Amino acid sequence: GAQGGPEPGPPHRIRVCVRKRPLSPGLQDLDVVTVPGPHLVVVHEARQRLDLSRYLQSQTFRFDQAFDASAPNELVYRHTAQPLVEGIFRGGKATCFAYGQTGSGKTYTMGGDLSAKGIYALVAQDVFRWLQEPSYDKLELRVYGAFFEIYGGKVYDLLHWRNRLKVLEDGKQQIQVVGLQEAEVTCVEEVLKLIELGNRCRTSGQTSVNAHSSRSHAIFQIILRKRGALHGKFSLIDLAGNERGADTCSADRQTRLEGAEINKSLLALKECIRALGRNKTHTPFRASKLTQVLRDSFIGENSWTCMIATISPGMRSCEHTLNTLRYANRVK
Ligand code: ADP
Ligand code: MG
Repeated sequence: GAQGGPEPGPPHRIRVCVRKRPLSPGLQDLDVVTVPGPHLVVVHEARQRLDLSRYLQSQTFRFDQAFDASAPNELVYRHTAQPLVEGIFRGGKATCFAYGQTGSGKTYTMGGDLSAKGIYALVAQDVFRWLQEPSYDKLELRVYGAFFEIYGGKVYDLLHWRNRLKVLEDGKQQIQVVGLQEAEVTCVEEVLKLIELGNRCRTSGQTSVNAHSSRSHAIFQIILRKRGALHGKFSLIDLAGNERGADTCSADRQTRLEGAEINKSLLALKECIRALGRNKTHTPFRASKLTQVLRDSFIGENSWTCMIATISPGMRSCEHTLNTLRYANRVK
């Protein structure tokens, strides 16, 4: 596993990592995913020959970092979001995505359900630690949190009664989420309170927490301001379940539309991250609401992104796991 690996080096512009979650206890399923080294993920797929005999076929993928099921959130954090924290103090933009099938551990990794300390809280902890540094102390920075979701291509404020928000683009291609609430925070506990508040907003009146969160992208932002002006920003995104993007043949019209929207946004996201990695001047951010609201994080010298692709180890999830790995593979 990755446990004995070296300390992370300087941050890459784009880092793509994979995290395997433990097999669900009590579920009768086979573990078909191995992480034989700090960069490799192998999927062992059971195939059937024409004569009905079975054989195993394995596919190997290489990533910047691969975490096996025993890796705690702190280790994942250390190799993904943590190296990007200092950048926002230097006036940059950092982004961290959790991408994967529903149930593969995106929310657990981000710490969105508050069941384990995740990346939201770990970033906040480091931000407040950096603020104490003498060189940054002088900057008089203040920290704010914003939390919103994109559902069916529409933006809702999770810190303000799930208010529907408009996204506007001015003549200079600057994007504004009009009216998005920012709450000032001074410690990790206050950040956790925002997450709790946002989660309550997210699920009130919804059928079930999981059904809703699997179809929406949740975006938590930690924003640094200097006398009111934007200084730096860290966006932490718990994406919709990628299997929902395949719901385009569902009998239910609503499900079909939502599936198409998710599919579109995940494809646009891949293209925008690729463009960032290749220092391209053209970024196709207008293709979806998700990439539009993240536009300022996809451009410029001072933008850094990491993606954590989460996978389930079970044989039953094999097809979705392969889809996740192929997507993650193409992001760079
Ligand atoms: P997703 O957000 O991708 O739909 P969740 O994060 O909700 O998935 O994970 C599904 C379930 O699996 C939750 O009960 C969660 O606590 C558990 N889980 C996910 N990843 C891990 C992990 N690495 N270690 C322990 N439990 C995990
Ligand atoms: Mg989730």
